[in-house]
Amino acid sequence: MTHYDIAIENGIIVTVDSNHTILDKGTLLVKDGIIKKIYTTENNRQDYVAAKTINASNKLVMPGLVNAHTHIPMTIYRGFADDMPLQKWLHDYIFPAEQKFSTKENILIGAELAAAEMIRSGTTCFCDMYFFEAEIATLISKIGMRAVLSEGLFDFPSPNCKTPKDGINYAIKLFDKWNKHPFIDIAFCLHAPYTCSKELILEVKKLSTEKKALLNIHIAESEWEYNHFIKTERCTPVEYLDKLGVIDNKLIAAHCVHVSDSDIELLANKKVGIAHNPECNMKLASGAAPIPKLLDANANIGLGTDGVASNNNHDLFQEMRTAALLHKFNSNDSTVATATQIIEMATIGSAKVLHLDDKIGSLEVGKQADIIIVDLTQPHAKPLYNVYSQIVYSLSGSDVETSIVAGKILMENRKLKTINYNLLKTRVETLANIIRAYLSFF
Ligand SMILES: [Zn+2]
Repeated sequence: MTHYDIAIENGIIVTVDSNHTILDKGTLLVKDGIIKKIYTTENNRQDYVAAKTINASNKLVMPGLVNAHTHIPMTIYRGFADDMPLQKWLHDYIFPAEQKFSTKENILIGAELAAAEMIRSGTTCFCDMYFFEAEIATLISKIGMRAVLSEGLFDFPSPNCKTPKDGINYAIKLFDKWNKHPFIDIAFCLHAPYTCSKELILEVKKLSTEKKALLNIHIAESEWEYNHFIKTERCTPVEYLDKLGVIDNKLIAAHCVHVSDSDIELLANKKVGIAHNPECNMKLASGAAPIPKLLDANANIGLGTDGVASNNNHDLFQEMRTAALLHKFNSNDSTVATATQIIEMATIGSAKVLHLDDKIGSLEVGKQADIIIVDLTQPHAKPLYNVYSQIVYSLSGSDVETSIVAGKILMENRKLKTINYNLLKTRVETLANIIRAYLSFF
């Protein structure tokens, strides 16, 4: 009789494979962190012994969601400055607060809070861009999540590094130390084309090419950015980066809201990984990325939340719903951004953006066991006619009961297994009191 580590039985298995296979009353077997078998239980009962058996009756079993773009330590600024213009938000609140409070110690509090929130809302992998990413790598590897981490670089001092040169040296050390880790990948990062000089862009691109690493960047987020490049460089932000040799399939391009038709063609042809962040774009009134056009062009698109200072949460279920509604509303066409396309975006799409689609993003034999189990018994989940519709339009992150990464259970029946949440809550509140006192000066 074959032995497995985990057996998930009797669930509706939404594989998100290329055939959109859904198995009713399915069984999924895991050993050594890998998915070994998936099959419909009825008329196919197989003999096995499992160290852990999970009854997934009245539950969905689906791939862990993948957040293609965020800044996890920013959870400490959740709800700190809302409903104001982008420039005021950034220059009067976020940047000064980061200089004062984004210390190594505080960043770890924010990152752990984000990890707790992501695990509890079904995200098992994320791509981060912030500061002190070596410390974040240590924390996340202990918690057991999967991540692509990148140290934010720009022309001015960061809370971590006094100069861009210091930042580059830190990023190299970060890459060399962590990139062989089984669950942590390291990317290089340029904050944005308007905060990084040409010299810095060229140097970091050269470095990421030498290291065969991904390059993470914000691009074409606002109308201001688009107009700035038209005025100063006589080209779009995407064309500007293309001239510098940055537009290729190793690029993770967050936003891509203000792009021309020829930019769309270029992004699709070069297989750039696009991280779509609809809630952040709506909240900061940046605009709607042309997702239907990008989908038509067969572009590589994943879904992200961006940092919670501009969202204000890490719930990818909410983000899926927003994405589906935004593009229908924006294009006056209810047939675009279908539930199936949006689920693919939050799973296999984001996995492709992060070059992890050979390991995660779908439930298939041989892939890593990054799995979530979602409750279907609540009133808002009844009745169930179409699984994809239910996931995108009805369910939320709080319906996720169990989250698993590489066969390790990080949450079971909504209880976090690798984070002491009671202790974390106290640390978060203590820090929030200090930030509140600072805010009272405004
Ligand atoms: Zn961002």
